[in-house]
Amino acid sequence: MPKSSARIWGTTMLSAGPISLHYGKHLALDGVSLDVADGETVVVLGANGAGKSSLLKALAGLVKPAPGARVMLGGDDLLGRPAHKYPEAGIALVPEGRGIFGELTVAENLELGAYVSHARPHEARQLALVFDLFPRLAERRQQIARTMSGGEQQMLAIGRALMSCPRLLMLDEPSLGLAPIVTTELFAALARIRQTGIALLVVEQNVKASLAIAHRGYLMEAGRITGSGTSDALRGDVAVQQAFLGAAAPSVENGVSP
Ligand code: ATP
Repeated sequence: MPKSSARIWGTTMLSAGPISLHYGKHLALDGVSLDVADGETVVVLGANGAGKSSLLKALAGLVKPAPGARVMLGGDDLLGRPAHKYPEAGIALVPEGRGIFGELTVAENLELGAYVSHARPHEARQLALVFDLFPRLAERRQQIARTMSGGEQQMLAIGRALMSCPRLLMLDEPSLGLAPIVTTELFAALARIRQTGIALLVVEQNVKASLAIAHRGYLMEAGRITGSGTSDALRGDVAVQQAFLGAAAPSVENGVSP
């Protein structure tokens, strides 16, 4: 079984773990640890209910892990800070369902994204980046957000997160419910964001497309990390192929490291 989880990227930026999380008696995360290097793109793959959204919420400070966990960004442990301080530290989350302000215009949503103090001086530069990535948003800047298509709303949600000048942009199933052509556009935009040097942590159902832009990935099952590896290793892994890529039963053992 090839060992392929070694990180091939630069300095660790996010180092988190062991994260356990209970919803009442239900253990949604059971000692999850992961890291993301500067400029790295990492994907988290797992079936429905594996705990992927809960993990992103924990990393964004939106839910409180059990004692003993750390969420280190650079040298700082963010745990214990209120959720609104996480964007100040450089973490932005585009949640499932997008979380944009439906009654506000595109321009107003983007402006609100730049509320964090370190982002304010760079508002014009970030807006230019967002409009360059998503020209549709520039055309529609006065449109009320809720009247936009699902794909446009997802672009706006990502644009708003970019306005906060994140070091780490986390996306929870960004392609969910989007038409194939819009999904292709979305992943092209994510690939371009990756090129700007922002680290990405992506939870996705579209395994093929997300592995195509990711450097590395983790597998999650029932609240635990059950494997990890480079995108190439994951693509070649029989269990991944069977679970996510529609492959037939295995004939050759080809695992990823736990
Ligand atoms: P999906 O792909 O379906 O969104 P997921 O991998 O993101 O799944 P989570 O949404 O993190 O998984 O859920 C993990 C487990 O925790 C599931 O069993 C879910 O029912 C449960 N769960 C999530 N949020 C809550 C909550 N607020 N209260 C109680 N249980 C919850």
